[in-house]
Amino acid sequence: MTQKDPWLLTPGPLTTSRETKDTMLHDWGSRDSSFIETNQRIRENLVKIIDGQESYVCVPLQGSGTFAVEATIGTLLPPNGKALILINGAYGKRMVKILQYLNREYDIIETPEDTPPSIDDLDKKLSQDPKITHVLAVHCETTSGILNPLNQIGKIVAKHNRRLIIDAMSAFGAIPISIKEIQFDAVMASSNKCLEGVPGVGFAIIQKQSLEQCKGNSHSLSLDLYDQWITMEANAQWRFTPPTHVIMALDAAINQFVQEGGVLARHKRYSENCKTLISGMKEMGFETLLTSQLQAPIIVTFKMPKDHKFDFPLFYESLKEKNFVIYPGKLTVAPSFRIGCIGHIGRQEIRGALTAIKDTLAEMNIGDCSPE
Ligand SMILES: *Cc1c(COP(=O)(O)O)cnc(C)c1O
Repeated sequence: MTQKDPWLLTPGPLTTSRETKDTMLHDWGSRDSSFIETNQRIRENLVKIIDGQESYVCVPLQGSGTFAVEATIGTLLPPNGKALILINGAYGKRMVKILQYLNREYDIIETPEDTPPSIDDLDKKLSQDPKITHVLAVHCETTSGILNPLNQIGKIVAKHNRRLIIDAMSAFGAIPISIKEIQFDAVMASSNKCLEGVPGVGFAIIQKQSLEQCKGNSHSLSLDLYDQWITMEANAQWRFTPPTHVIMALDAAINQFVQEGGVLARHKRYSENCKTLISGMKEMGFETLLTSQLQAPIIVTFKMPKDHKFDFPLFYESLKEKNFVIYPGKLTVAPSFRIGCIGHIGRQEIRGALTAIKDTLAEMNIGDCSPE
């Protein structure tokens, strides 16, 4: 079978399997029993990924991941609460923007994009400021691809008896998070990253006991996850039109995820993609932003080569012609670009991308890709 669509080596949306795409060639009524059953199954399967069957619930929401982040924060943080946001990239900053829109109190701990948050600073802030009720952290900060020390963060937050909300958007399904290892109120993710579904639905997996206390917190009807949850528990239906095709595709994607071997198998495939990518790029002289200890097997940031003949828009277009889509950098610390390791791809596609990159460099007449 020939792959006519380009391979998406991006942070999402990603390449999905034929099986997942095929699922969408039907129509479903949102009140129909087969759709309702599927919706129920997805919610249960997602909770299992964090070992939360006993005490957590999954609340899905229409829209991209940011909708789920905004909805979760607005629902869980009471109007008189205060958030502490750990920032080392664009997604931490986006949570700050959400807090500003919500008009809720917040503080930040910010480190550069290639540096994990300081656990000592977190410990100090929580000791000094009793008003802080919630800590908001990003698992894999997709801006750089850095893996933040979630378990250490969780220990400190628990020690101070505060609540933790995790944006695990780009890690969920590929980097283990379990309630057996870490205490948290909620973890947020979406259909179109490591679960390899299509874009259009986000979700939060929330501790039931916490969610029960959240009636009336939300500023927004459509983003109120408490109301979404209560309604879905009552009649198994969505309050407002659900993205039916997206949900059916997510169900198919989760079936394939389970067949593959769950989080550990996906972590292994993406790690192999990541290793193959980095070693191939290093052979051409490229350098990664992050050291291997900080690098999550999700997306890799490469520094821009210093050769003035390297023109990124041209490089991007030429790779696109060869059927590979990469991603521009979003860093403030250094000019860069990113190549993703996630989606329905394996080492063969990564090797194909490396060949396309080599050919492109030859066309551009570039011998050495080392950065400044
Ligand atoms: C993708 C992503 C989001 C959500 O982005 P959307 O464009 O709204 O889907 C949030 N946080 C992180 C860390 C992400 O990688």
